[in-house]
Amino acid sequence: VIRMCLSQHLLIVVVGDSAVGKTQLLGRFTKDEFHFDSKSTIGVEFQTRTLNLNRKRIKAQIWDTAGQERYRAITNAYYRGAVGAMLVYDVTRRHTFDHIAKWIEELRANADNSIVVVLIGNKSDLVGKREVSLDDAVEFAEEQGLFFSEASALSGENVETAFLMLLEEIYGVV
Ligand code: GDP
Ligand code: MG
Repeated sequence: VIRMCLSQHLLIVVVGDSAVGKTQLLGRFTKDEFHFDSKSTIGVEFQTRTLNLNRKRIKAQIWDTAGQERYRAITNAYYRGAVGAMLVYDVTRRHTFDHIAKWIEELRANADNSIVVVLIGNKSDLVGKREVSLDDAVEFAEEQGLFFSEASALSGENVETAFLMLLEEIYGVV
């Protein structure tokens, strides 16, 4: 008997305005790394992390928008096959939160209807610079029927739990 260790591939996309911390959230989740001097992502890129979830081996392939967030021209090819999406805003820049509605429209227009979406308010470590209250975000997330968490790619707070919340929901094992 040949036993193969097959892992199931899950495609996740990360979207949101430029500089909200998408690339650093990915780096924190997949490599437990953070870089202050993060360059804006060039070319379509993804990072992967293999993990065990509910005794299943899962390979999460997480796609990072390649700087197109500036031009709002992410093609629907980017969303094809994605089972999960992370919508990211920056708690210290209100307009990145106000744009989330646009990102939701884009997701609805391009992604599969069954895609699981988690809203993330990143940079929760910058306490004194906050422009988006937790209450506003919770209310919006409830209205839109999104899972929600604040997080910090810098400190690592809630990053693991946010990704796991997404992956667990995809599997319906919450
Ligand atoms: P992206 O354009 O959405 O991929 O954003 P990046 O991941 O490149 O991050 C943009 C900038 O925000 C960089 O200077 C990061 O160092 C910084 N940054 C990202 N996440 C955090 C965070 O959680 N806290 C703080 N203080 N800075 C962050
Ligand atoms: Mg980036």
